[in-house]
Amino acid sequence: MASVELRNVTKVYHEVTAVHSASATIEDKEFIVLVGPSGCGKSTILRMIAGLEDISSGQILIDNQVVNEVPPKDRDIAMVFQNYALYPHMTVYANLAFGLKLRKFPKQEIDQRVKEAASILGIEHLLERKPKALSGGQRQRVAVGRAIVRKPKVFLFDEPLSNLDAKLRVQMRTEISKLHSRLESTMIYVTHDQVEAMTMGDRIVVLRDGIIQQIDSPLNLYNRPVNKFVAGFIGSPAMNFLNGTLVAENGLKFKCAQLKLTIAEKHQKILAKYLNKEIVLGIRPENLVENIKSQRYQIVKGNVDVVEPMGNEIFLYLSFGENSVVARLNPNTKPVVNTEYSITFDMDKVHYFDPVTEEAIYC
Ligand code: ADP
Repeated sequence: MASVELRNVTKVYHEVTAVHSASATIEDKEFIVLVGPSGCGKSTILRMIAGLEDISSGQILIDNQVVNEVPPKDRDIAMVFQNYALYPHMTVYANLAFGLKLRKFPKQEIDQRVKEAASILGIEHLLERKPKALSGGQRQRVAVGRAIVRKPKVFLFDEPLSNLDAKLRVQMRTEISKLHSRLESTMIYVTHDQVEAMTMGDRIVVLRDGIIQQIDSPLNLYNRPVNKFVAGFIGSPAMNFLNGTLVAENGLKFKCAQLKLTIAEKHQKILAKYLNKEIVLGIRPENLVENIKSQRYQIVKGNVDVVEPMGNEIFLYLSFGENSVVARLNPNTKPVVNTEYSITFDMDKVHYFDPVTEEAIYC
């Protein structure tokens, strides 16, 4: 198995800079997820690691060796694509065996590897079928199997679950995570789905417009996002943002239209430099809670716009003037649309961002 390192990797297609000076080290046996909105450069990074795309500048290293000039077939990497890329006229067995045959593996070795992969993935009974006689999930397993038989140094996954329905996606997510524990191999996984990233990655690389924003564990991304983009991208429903000003009134207060919130004691000192300046307040939907009376919790009244019952919780969309927030509440609460409702900000859990740079102000 192997480590993978990107050193200031840039990719320019004509005028478009798809990836801008990306640097990251993926440790041996790590499961790393590249996540970001469509077009942010995830697939380009993966394809450059695989050698399917030239690098405009920078270096890629596999196992501490620069591979910029190494052709894909010699990189000892296997890639699983979103569209499975199975050969329709071949049986599952032949699909699994194909890459090994090309590499002139002995028949017996091929047979052993195909059967082993089929057993890991629970598709032994499908070996004689053609892809068209398989469900989406089964096809995806075959595509993964084709990578497993190669016993590569590094596995690359390019949005492999996008074509599956929601239930199967969740199931395959766990299967790929289990596979990672079992094979103990380095895996690099691309997705636009932040839930997939959070549940699967040892670490996550968040990308925006070809620029790496943050590389961190799922929990750190959630609790300590480096900027407003990461804060808003990770978590569902997304973090609420309010633009306001800090004023001094018995300590610091955040003022935004008719809202006035007392800043938590522990945040006062660091935020002092923003006095009388604009600031962005971020609060996650779960940190807007039912009414609690204390200095830490600030009650706000708003109009109920929408109530979405989810079964185990409700999403409440509340507006006050120009501003609105979404809260995750206990399903026993019964807000009524177009009536006034009070919600409480847990000020200890609030995030703050600079309105110009959008960088987090760590308190
Ligand atoms: P993602 O995988 O995050 O959706 P991509 O890596 O596919 O993003 O694309 C990143 C950017 O590079 C996009 O702006 C895309 O339009 C552009 N791009 C990707 N491939 C090509 C190409 N072959 N020619 C020109 N532009 C491309």
